[in-house]
Amino acid sequence: MHGRLSEGGRPSLRELLSPLYTQALHSHCLRADAVSVWESDGETLWLPRFRFQRTPVVKERHKVGIFAGIHGDEPAGILGLMDFIRELDETPEIGRHFELFLYPVCNPGGTLSGTRASRSGKDLNREFWRGSQEKEVQLLEREILARQFDGIIALHSDDTAPGFYGFARGDVLARQLLSPALSAAEQAQPRDVRPFIDGFKAVNGMIHESYDGILCAPPQQIPQPFELILESPALAPLADQRNAFRLALKAILHEYCPFIAYGTNL
Ligand SMILES: [Zn+2]
Repeated sequence: MHGRLSEGGRPSLRELLSPLYTQALHSHCLRADAVSVWESDGETLWLPRFRFQRTPVVKERHKVGIFAGIHGDEPAGILGLMDFIRELDETPEIGRHFELFLYPVCNPGGTLSGTRASRSGKDLNREFWRGSQEKEVQLLEREILARQFDGIIALHSDDTAPGFYGFARGDVLARQLLSPALSAAEQAQPRDVRPFIDGFKAVNGMIHESYDGILCAPPQQIPQPFELILESPALAPLADQRNAFRLALKAILHEYCPFIAYGTNL
């Protein structure tokens, strides 16, 4: 989708994120910072990071990273994740078992230009764990290595898709989470039920393969986290896409804990 974040001119990163920065200022459970800040073509760019934890109490929490805007021309994921973060802060109960690391703009240069690629012309989602020279990829790889996430979720949009769909990578847990996520998204958007999506075999909107070089856990991480990629239909109304992302993310948090509890009780 060759879309931009707004019709009337491009917002700066700060304008785009200012509702969340304001919210974080007054929040007990949401903190805002940046993975890194740098200069590009005379412009200040940064990779924004938000961290959610309902209370300061030290206890076992599931650590999940959610990434959007890896392709700069896919605004729905960015806005959907921002909606989700706002809802988390307003209803922290939905995230009570989690420590969430939220990265709404993973390709800040591309997002500001409205291009899929980074400022240097690379598709960042083909560069991971391959010795990439891309700044954003190096920063995100370092972040992913340091956090050792239990789950990784990436948000994308597909301008050839008639409906919402997803990829589940890794063990059975990913599949068990994707199904309720797609069901929840259906409250906002139809599901893509084609037997082949983006060249991959799909069943009921679920795909179990993926491209190489996508944002994911390092191959050597043990245990591997659950990994989900959610794809909205980029040509559908933006409001429906962001709503579908928000509902899908909530469903994943809701479903994750019973699965974990069941697993440990076996
Ligand atoms: Zn994408």
